[in-house]
Amino acid sequence: MKLILPRLCVMFAVLAGVFPPLPKTCLEVHAAEPPQIRMLLVTGGHGFETNRFLNFFTSNPVLTVQAVAHPNAHSWFKADKAGQYDVIVLYDMWQDISEEAKKDFLDRLKEGKGLVALHHSLASYQKWDEYAKVIGGKFRLEKQTQDGVERPASTFKHDVKIPVKVIRPPHPATAGLKDFEIQDETYGRFEVAPSSIPLLATDEPTSGRTICWATSYGMAKVAYIQLGHDHVAWDNPNYRRLVMHAIRWTVGQR
Ligand SMILES: [Zn+2]
Repeated sequence: MKLILPRLCVMFAVLAGVFPPLPKTCLEVHAAEPPQIRMLLVTGGHGFETNRFLNFFTSNPVLTVQAVAHPNAHSWFKADKAGQYDVIVLYDMWQDISEEAKKDFLDRLKEGKGLVALHHSLASYQKWDEYAKVIGGKFRLEKQTQDGVERPASTFKHDVKIPVKVIRPPHPATAGLKDFEIQDETYGRFEVAPSSIPLLATDEPTSGRTICWATSYGMAKVAYIQLGHDHVAWDNPNYRRLVMHAIRWTVGQR
């Protein structure tokens, strides 16, 4: 009885409101917090608004950002650094890559590292055909002959109002997104691999039709998003949502 009585008192006190229950909102917020995602952000070879772009990611409490730039970025694809990130986000436009770095990059993808390629990264590694296979498309900086057929250089146009259509049924990377408009740079005459799954489309005349797609390479989930030239696009809430959903999908959170 001596043991039971204090317990009864505590129960009574809780019921009576003497010990108020923990604030519900704290519990809910904590329970809803998704796990941290460690991203390797690769830049270099193309100018951009550095601080605003970094802030686009570092302001998101879900993300831990390791920003690396060429010519020192490729060492981050080596196996001994692979344990430090879950997803590679490419915002580079770089051409030189050693055979060793090619293998390191592909090995990380074969192991299942997520990959989100943004905007001008579609024009990286023009002479490395496997890269176009990895990201499921290619922006040609010059006209090129492929399979005996001459293909024109890709094009670009800045500050275009782009109507964006979410292709149905929505993919995990575009779930919850409604059709939207964004002011951004368009690319025209670029390649999209037949195996890429189109996620966003536009009928803007200076743009290729498919402007976001999903693909895979080895064990890796890969998303490419053509949009994202500058802060006007980065500040668009639909763009923010799209990039985060794509990152989450590639790391298996969606
Ligand atoms: Zn651009």
